[in-house]
Amino acid sequence: MRATCATIHLGALRENLRRVRELAPGAKVMAVVKADGYGHGLERVARALEGADAFGVASIADGQRLRAAGASQRVVVLSGPDEAGDLAELRRLKLDAVIHHETQIELLAADADPRPLRVWLKLDTGMHRLGFAPERARDVHARLRALPSVDRDISLMTHFANSDVFDDALTTHQIERFERSVSGLDGERSLSNSAGILGWPEAQGQWVRAGGALYGISVVAGKIGADFGFRPAMTLSTRLIAINRVRRGERVGYAATWEAPEDMAVGVAAIGYGDGYPRHADFGTPVLVAGTRASLIGRVSMDLVTVDLREVPSAKIGDPVVLWGRGLAVEEIAEHADTIGYELTCGVTRRVRFVEDES
Ligand SMILES: *Cc1c(COP(=O)(O)O)cnc(C)c1O
Repeated sequence: MRATCATIHLGALRENLRRVRELAPGAKVMAVVKADGYGHGLERVARALEGADAFGVASIADGQRLRAAGASQRVVVLSGPDEAGDLAELRRLKLDAVIHHETQIELLAADADPRPLRVWLKLDTGMHRLGFAPERARDVHARLRALPSVDRDISLMTHFANSDVFDDALTTHQIERFERSVSGLDGERSLSNSAGILGWPEAQGQWVRAGGALYGISVVAGKIGADFGFRPAMTLSTRLIAINRVRRGERVGYAATWEAPEDMAVGVAAIGYGDGYPRHADFGTPVLVAGTRASLIGRVSMDLVTVDLREVPSAKIGDPVVLWGRGLAVEEIAEHADTIGYELTCGVTRRVRFVEDES
């Protein structure tokens, strides 16, 4: 059997939730589980994080999956309804909807169903992606309140563009704009994503929305989750399936991009971009071979990567190879592949075997 495997550490997920609560003691926690729980598996993440106060998802389809898996927590669809039929589905599944656009108010206004939907009013305080202009907060809030199809208990939210830079004036500005625009309005407040929780404790409101932190991943430049007390929730691993001697001057891999500087051993590990390992990972990207750091050489191919074994002379076929996770931060790999850890965990593909681990 192909050894390529993503081990999901359920204990780490649970512990990371505890850590989020420690950092935001006055707030309820919405565990953000979009993109299949950042690639960790929606249902298994929801089970491990059953202590969360709510789940945040990107689509009604994810809400369906959570309800089918027995989740009874609040589930918030972060982009809300797209069309009239969505409202019935939101009600059937008892999902909360984020309302960020005029067209959604029109859907709600045209809705004759008397069972009120729970909504979160989203304001755009500077991200300029989703949300109403803050100047419109009062007007939109009043219009939503007046609709029989909307629950009167409306939550208020915004999203940060750059909260991972802990001294950036944009976040200060976003917090001020949000507070000004909602002052005097009823409803719980929610501003912070993971980086907001870490760097902007004044912005915790009644709800924090934690994604990356729960998976043990940091988006703060130069920092890894462990620097903030989080543990990685995924370890991606495989095994060495070949060890070859390569002579000085010979080249390794597609396009012959890497040249051996001396006679040396090259290991071949059973993982590639077909598994979601980034093709852009450069030479020198670290891997762990039987627990020892070694470097990627040559191009990443679909099913295989090649590894410089000069630092691991005792390596043998069958040795475990860790690509990221315990002992090797996904943030470090992301740096070598010019991306962020979130994209790497989200990108693990279907052919990878997922294994659950209680620790
Ligand atoms: C994805 C998302 C989050 C979580 O962000 P992290 O950086 O992963 O904590 C929070 N709020 C909204 C609206 C999101 O889309």
